Amino acid sequence: MSATEFIRLTIHEAGRRMAAGQITSVELTEAVLDRIAATDGAVKAYLTVTPEQAMGQARAADERRAAGERGSLLGVPIALKDVLCTEGIPTTAGSRILEGFVPPYDATVVRRLKEGGAVIIGKTNTDEFAMGSSTENSAYFATRNPWDLGRVPGGSSGGSAAAVAADACVAALGSDTGGSVRQPAALCGVVGLKPTYGRVSRYGLIAFASSLDQVGVLTKDVTDAAVLLGAIAGSDPCDGTVTDLPVPDYAALLTADVKGVRIGVMQEAFVEGLQPEVEAAVWTAVDRLGELGAQVREVSLPHSDYALPAFYLIAPAEASANLARYDGVRYGHREEADSLDGMYKRTRGRGFGAEVKRRIMLGTHSLSAGYYDAYYLKAQKVRTLIKADFDAAFEEVDVILGPTTPTTAFGIGEKIDDPLQMYLSDVFTLSMNLAGICGLSVPCGFDQQGLPIGLQVTGPAFGEQRALRVAYAYEQAYDWRARRPDL
Ligand code: GLN
Repeated sequence: MSATEFIRLTIHEAGRRMAAGQITSVELTEAVLDRIAATDGAVKAYLTVTPEQAMGQARAADERRAAGERGSLLGVPIALKDVLCTEGIPTTAGSRILEGFVPPYDATVVRRLKEGGAVIIGKTNTDEFAMGSSTENSAYFATRNPWDLGRVPGGSSGGSAAAVAADACVAALGSDTGGSVRQPAALCGVVGLKPTYGRVSRYGLIAFASSLDQVGVLTKDVTDAAVLLGAIAGSDPCDGTVTDLPVPDYAALLTADVKGVRIGVMQEAFVEGLQPEVEAAVWTAVDRLGELGAQVREVSLPHSDYALPAFYLIAPAEASANLARYDGVRYGHREEADSLDGMYKRTRGRGFGAEVKRRIMLGTHSLSAGYYDAYYLKAQKVRTLIKADFDAAFEEVDVILGPTTPTTAFGIGEKIDDPLQMYLSDVFTLSMNLAGICGLSVPCGFDQQGLPIGLQVTGPAFGEQRALRVAYAYEQAYDWRARRPDL
């Protein structure tokens, strides 16, 4: 096999070849490390690459396989967004305040990957504490979109999405609080799935907004999303918000048959500001699913307009509480000063970037006496209405389709000085986090500049299988993967 063939392998293809004795994990891991060396100077997807540890894990995986062990992730190189704690490997959350922090334990999802024999190849760049939509808010550097190095990869899991798109890993984990897996997946032309709140453990995920955060997967195709979700999902004594509902064998249950599946197209997404090529690509995809036998109708989610304001009250409120722990005493970076108070102020003043400070101030304000009822409590009531909209829609349809993002990838620097424009980039993904339901983005074409477009498939709580089925049927019939970024 050529180097190009190696790095393009999906999880399931690599697994099949390793099982057949055609390739080894050591060969695959070397090919991926070579690819990182060749492309990451330009793409800058990784904050940390761990070649020695990865090669050790690859050798161990080959031995486990030789001893008769099987497993979908055995020997497969996976990248992790740098908001997931990794024992012995620096974990920064894209922030200066965690510079030098080396976690003493693995996040549950990381532990599960390791137990399954995955090879951890490195930690990917992220907007600071996952706050952002372009990965430009990283305190270290901006990641670039492999399809056009002058553009953003989306965010906040932009490093993971760019690494998958650049074939600089086989698959990656990210986190999604308001769109941070689905939006960069759309902008980088890969598959990104955000599970239902409570499907995957958050233990060891550095918290942004705890009632919205969920670990998600970024993969080269829908089958891989099913495989990787199956590997990380399920109950965890360390996270009481995870249900003990059994985890289906998502990959084994995949079927390309969508006959009779009821698809709702989200009416509210087709508004001003939606790039015409995105709109056209989404309608084409909907029509094609109709041709494959799905029943298509429009659905309305009347409170959609309020998702963005509600999110930007609730998420910063939770963030302001979560980020209080970074005081220079326990983790990472510390600035010395004459007094304890001075040390706190200087550490936080210098350790946090502008967007994180903006969120802490917004959140502190909306939680303070006199404003709590008007802002925070009101936003929680709106959240309930948004959830009720979805509950009503899912009485009528099995999945809801729409664009993942209003536009394709925008230029580096284009929105960085205009927070509202940046926030609008997640306008179609925020409401699923508020409702606690699941969704994924699957590639559905390109705009005239050759930039990828994402189709969002939303399912009800614990309806991952349905969303995967519709995306899989679409992908089997209309595979966009022949087109690759030219790196
Ligand atoms: N872009 C949104 C924000 O900045 C959501 C980010 C995320 O999902 N982590 O808050």
